[in-house]
Amino acid sequence: MDVTTALQKFRELQETSHAYSHALGVLYYDGATTAPAASAAGRGRTMGTLAGIHYDLTAGEETIKLIDFLKAHLDELTDVQKREVTYFARDLEYTASIPKEEFVAYQVLLNDAEDVWRKAKNENDFDAFAPYLEKIFDTNRRFAGYYKPDMAPYDVLLNTYEHGLTMAQCDAFFAALREKVVPLLEKVVAAPKPDTSFLQGHFPLEKQRAFSDRLMELMKIDRSRCAIGETEHPFTTGFNNHDVRITTHYHEEDAVSSMYSVIHEGGHALYDMGSADEYEYTCLAGGVSMGIHESQSRFWENIIGRSEEFCALVLPVLQELFPENFANITPEQLYKAVNKSEPSLIRTEADELTYALHIMVRYDLEKALMEGSLTVKELPAAWNAKMKEYLGVDVPDDARGVLQDTHWAGGMVGYFPSYALGSAYGAQMLAKMKEDLDVSALISAGETDKIAAWLEEKLWRHGSRYDPDELFLRCCEAPFDPKWFTDYLTEKFTKVYNLV
Ligand SMILES: [Zn+2]
Repeated sequence: MDVTTALQKFRELQETSHAYSHALGVLYYDGATTAPAASAAGRGRTMGTLAGIHYDLTAGEETIKLIDFLKAHLDELTDVQKREVTYFARDLEYTASIPKEEFVAYQVLLNDAEDVWRKAKNENDFDAFAPYLEKIFDTNRRFAGYYKPDMAPYDVLLNTYEHGLTMAQCDAFFAALREKVVPLLEKVVAAPKPDTSFLQGHFPLEKQRAFSDRLMELMKIDRSRCAIGETEHPFTTGFNNHDVRITTHYHEEDAVSSMYSVIHEGGHALYDMGSADEYEYTCLAGGVSMGIHESQSRFWENIIGRSEEFCALVLPVLQELFPENFANITPEQLYKAVNKSEPSLIRTEADELTYALHIMVRYDLEKALMEGSLTVKELPAAWNAKMKEYLGVDVPDDARGVLQDTHWAGGMVGYFPSYALGSAYGAQMLAKMKEDLDVSALISAGETDKIAAWLEEKLWRHGSRYDPDELFLRCCEAPFDPKWFTDYLTEKFTKVYNLV
């Protein structure tokens, strides 16, 4: 085989791999949005079959040989081709290091675990879920050892969601956050609370759907490339840069919950749609890591969506659609209400200030479970103790405690830190953006497309061309420093709560 033939084969392989991912993605989206309840079993079979073929295709012997050949000829490739090969090889090497029977058994375990978790959460029965969780952590530890026997297992897992991330970096990041956020939160808790009563009421679903359209308009999202669906737990999925789907969940008594869901998922969608055409149908298409993805969704949700200027921009729309609640509200009242901060039990409902503390609880526990200093049996008590320590709240039951998230049931160990990192990345990106743009004025004028253009130029168009740390460095021209995030939070919440 010569290099040109190998490259041709590699391109075909990526195209076919993309086709399977596309089909699997559409099936997943369908299952989470409009498919009828009884469709799950049939869809599961189809997805199982497709996933099996996809596995053989991307991790089979022939593929391993092809990638090995290209890796031996890296110096004959262009920079982009080199990146394609090494980026593709990462996933391949991880999957190929796991014996196929164990890989398949793990997929079955995850499938069962998700059902058991859902039931355990509904019935507040941690003991029913514990054996599954134990197996999930054991398997992850074992798989990490197959892949990188010389690396700490939890570092291996952190790397699958944020390449280059280590426990040492996370420890430093969370310590810096804790040092600033905990005393700030104490002041916030002691201050008078903003009025949020007008955020509750009756908001008919039809009007909320119209509101979602208006929000996507304010974000200048190209609707010919982005559709919105309804689901239980909102998510975004992109098939290519011309076909991205966001989802939301409407609560009749609360219009703001869906509003921030739409803005958050819209941020993910913009990132996916901004990926350059030249990378489409290759492994370099779309966002590079969970942390960078969350930086974009949280940038739109919190930095833009919860700014004073955006509140002034969106208020007339709220007044038009829901006059009963918003007719007499000022932009300042809306701004303060949507930035209300208080310690709470549930991560997904946490505000911008307390959110990272929820992540720290999960980080400490995952790390201890992976290192073996904590057992699954001890987990609920450890969870409750951490919630008390970081947030000062008493956890009344496991359903609102250790059982609340789906991540561990889905095998996603090492994923949580990327949420907090994303928020912090975004604050440093904002500081850099302000050197080039008058961000406040642009939001006030409704010219968010100029903000999007900056992000597209610095981040989105690069797809997965660079690792997250390199992409960040190119964007911010400085290494990541949590100081920007803690400064941003301090300034914002001092203002919202009139602290001195
Ligand atoms: Zn997100």
